[in-house]
Amino acid sequence: MKLAAASATDQGLVRQNNEDAFLVDDRRGLFAVADGMGGHRGGEVASRTAIEALRAAVANGAPLHEAIGRANIAILERAAADAELAGMGTTLTAVIAIGGSQVLIGHVGDSRAYLLHDGALQRATDDHSLVEEMVREGRLTPEQAESHPQRAIVTRALGVDEQLAVDLYTIDVTEGDRIVLCSDGLTTMVRERDIERMARTESDPQRLADALVAAANTAGGEDNITVVVIDVLEVDAARAPDPTQLVSDEDAEQPSRSAVVAPPDPEPDAPPARERRPKGTRRRAVRGAVLVVLPLVIIVGAAAAALGWYARSSYYVGASGGEVVIYKGVPGGVLGWNPTVDEHTGLRVDDLTTLDRDRVTTNSSRGSLATAREYVQRLADATTTTTTSTTTTTVKRRTPVRHATTTTIRPRTTTTVAGTHG
Ligand code: MN
Repeated sequence: MKLAAASATDQGLVRQNNEDAFLVDDRRGLFAVADGMGGHRGGEVASRTAIEALRAAVANGAPLHEAIGRANIAILERAAADAELAGMGTTLTAVIAIGGSQVLIGHVGDSRAYLLHDGALQRATDDHSLVEEMVREGRLTPEQAESHPQRAIVTRALGVDEQLAVDLYTIDVTEGDRIVLCSDGLTTMVRERDIERMARTESDPQRLADALVAAANTAGGEDNITVVVIDVLEVDAARAPDPTQLVSDEDAEQPSRSAVVAPPDPEPDAPPARERRPKGTRRRAVRGAVLVVLPLVIIVGAAAAALGWYARSSYYVGASGGEVVIYKGVPGGVLGWNPTVDEHTGLRVDDLTTLDRDRVTTNSSRGSLATAREYVQRLADATTTTTTSTTTTTVKRRTPVRHATTTTIRPRTTTTVAGTHG
């Protein structure tokens, strides 16, 4: 995946320091925004500690949710070692390219990830904040939340507890998509429709990052403002996602880093909060699945149809109850089409020459009905004695004998391939 990223951060017009931190690691395709909180220098230390621990953990091969877990522990350890830093914490919203056309978002707190797709801005993360939870529960309207006095209270952050629930979102991106990470200093100052308009019209990611920060300051700049813009220039269509980034069930079950993999599909009576999820994401994920599945369906369907035709239009000469018969179908059957006796010949297998008996009992003569009849005629001509005896002879299965004259319509591998799909 080819990405182009830009960033901007500013302490704003009110705060005395900048407690936000961010990460742009083009080489690893790793990007993050952290918004620290805590007295003294706590906020600054927390966000920087989180960013550095995240970067180091990913560099050491840790999956994203685990790297965020390590960032959490790093903050707790640092706070435990320094009384002035006690109680510090931070949000963390990180994006990593995991191969193919997918990015993984790991998220804790009220910083946000947005996806701009086809000119529409979709929020990719749910805020872990008091007012957003009240909105999701229907206790506040989004308008009330915007001016709520407690809108800065986060309900989930790094640095609070050893146990940390990390929201993980896998997002399918396409060329031309744009991801915007930001701290709440942007979203509490600039309306989403303005962010959308700017993200849609400003093509240069650096100019967009700078313009968003400037807009927040123009609106009052009450908090630190940080923006990371990631443009998707190219996706690798054929490559599968990096399996080391995917969360195993085992990981998801461990409460110490209870990673929440892409939240389940909404139930019919799901709360309206569900609608906040970027709608395009799921839609395009489904479309992606259709694109993958459809050719497979066509291939398997065509193979089944071809085999069905082959099975029903093929004939071979075999033995049934000691009698030479013409079977319709393929020896052993194909995809549920079992051979059936099409014509009785009155010829006894025992009366055939040794060579012919082998060919008949191994079903080695296959072709059309006409060729089967021709073959039976030749058998009859070669038969030493013709008998009408009704003695039933059990024909023992013999080791298949290959003859140079054997007519093989299809290689055996055809059946094998179909069996795999079937
Ligand atoms: Mn903030």
